[in-house]
Amino acid sequence: MPRHVLSGNAAARGSALGRARVRLPHALDVEETHIAPEEVEAELKRIHDAVDTVRTEMQILRKRLHGALAKEVGEFLDLHALLLDDPELLEGIDALIRIGRYSADYALRLQRDRIAAVFEGIDDAYLRSRIDDIDQVIGRLHAALHRREADLQGVAGEILVTDNISPADLAQLQAQGVLGVITAGGSTLSHSAILARSLHLPLVVGAAAALQKVNDGDVLVIDGSSGLVVLEPNAADLRDHHARTANARREQRQLNRLRREPSRTLDGVDIKLWANAESREDVAEAHALGAAGVGLYRTEYLFINNNQIPDEETQFRVYRDVVLGMTGRMVTIRTLDVGADKADNTGLALRNEPNPALGLRGVRLSLSRPALLHTQLRAIVRASGYGPVRILVPMISGAEEMFAVRDMLRTAMREVGGEGSEMAEKIPLGAMIEVPSAALSLPTFISACDFLSIGTNDLVQYLLAADRNNDALGELYTPLHPALLRLLRDVVRTANRRGRPVAVCGEIAGDAMFTPLLLALGLSELSLHPGTLLEVRRAIRGCDLAVLRAAAPALLRARDRAGIERWLSAHAPA
Ligand code: PEP
Ligand code: MG
Repeated sequence: MPRHVLSGNAAARGSALGRARVRLPHALDVEETHIAPEEVEAELKRIHDAVDTVRTEMQILRKRLHGALAKEVGEFLDLHALLLDDPELLEGIDALIRIGRYSADYALRLQRDRIAAVFEGIDDAYLRSRIDDIDQVIGRLHAALHRREADLQGVAGEILVTDNISPADLAQLQAQGVLGVITAGGSTLSHSAILARSLHLPLVVGAAAALQKVNDGDVLVIDGSSGLVVLEPNAADLRDHHARTANARREQRQLNRLRREPSRTLDGVDIKLWANAESREDVAEAHALGAAGVGLYRTEYLFINNNQIPDEETQFRVYRDVVLGMTGRMVTIRTLDVGADKADNTGLALRNEPNPALGLRGVRLSLSRPALLHTQLRAIVRASGYGPVRILVPMISGAEEMFAVRDMLRTAMREVGGEGSEMAEKIPLGAMIEVPSAALSLPTFISACDFLSIGTNDLVQYLLAADRNNDALGELYTPLHPALLRLLRDVVRTANRRGRPVAVCGEIAGDAMFTPLLLALGLSELSLHPGTLLEVRRAIRGCDLAVLRAAAPALLRARDRAGIERWLSAHAPA
């Protein structure tokens, strides 16, 4: 095959050179097959069994994931589980088998085509792209009907070429050493594309001719920044690829040099960079990158990844190991925040709440199950004997909750102390500021808080009434809203006046683009996933704090997102 260039859409940057592994779509080549009346029940059973198999498969996959991936991929898996449980999907297939007398395979395909036709008529490009998720679920069901393993097998050093790819497959392929992925379909807005960007796995989507042109074993260069794929590259293509990868490496090396550098602004002010962590790997990375400590340890993953509620001893060991892993740097352990989108297998979070994001989650759930909170507090108090620990309480909406948790912490400390266990004399207790009522009534309970951490992920969703998980809302869910900026400024002011340290621990803290904005609003502590810690450190080192603080009034005068974006471009770090 001579040199050939295919073009698609750039979905995740990065350049890769490798041999192609072509995986042809299997769900689309189903022939029309009719069944006899006496076969109906057996076909219905086949499809229902397939649904059960896929559900179990996804649960197993969810358990296999850990760390940041568990959160990111977990959200996609949850969406796929929802699609799988959508009664319309299965009822439609059932009717096609029962009334149309189609085989389960063909009924599955017809139902897919019906749904696709509805999606194709949608104007909004983002919503239209959601058909990818349907296809991924249908693909898994089809594989299950034939008792095939639906997960893709990748080979280290290869570039996968396929029709479409699910986020769960993507995560697995990267772990197997696959260098890049090309899909004939798919969109740059898909969940897979979002995940590929965070995994740094080059991805080109919408390369329509890929499945016809590429054969197993062909040599490919994929450029996830331009969307171009070169088949059987010539010398110039190889040189371009080497130049691109060398640039990327140089950038990573430059970032790595910052491992031991302080997070200090141009005018000499140190900003405290904490790490958000969910796993041991995160803790080790945070330590290696010189994080000030763990600013947010999300304990819910200990519950979500388990089928039963972990007892005090289990929790104690996990918390103790995080504390030991940070070798004397402060560890902030957040009490349980299950509920809403963080469904669990332990049965703690209520099922079928009409409005789960506004329901029994975070501290509300903990206070409604005092024995549960008591156990968790005792485990954390015991871990405090091994190094400095703070406790952070999620979803505080007002004074009562904060005072109630403080009382319970006092009891737990008295008990553990009475048992003769080694423990810290004082354990700082802090509130997550992520519910607007807490932000607005902060002066009424700040006396019960030793520190504060602003959870912008939820604060944005509750302040703007925009579900953080609803893709259909597009730009409505954004931290770039004047209301959020004012609220941040007010919380920081109250905290400063009362001498309480305050950090931001939402995703905004991990995006270097927003660093100047947070510094301008007076923040001097950020807590973020270790994956972007060095980028944020670099941004801090390019900021002049005095200039940013002087520009804060202009930022707060911005009327809308466009105005805030203009301010951000004018104040990008040097
Ligand atoms: C937040 O809401 O910003 C936050 C850090 O908590 P989580 O994302 O775990 O809800
Ligand atoms: Mg939150």
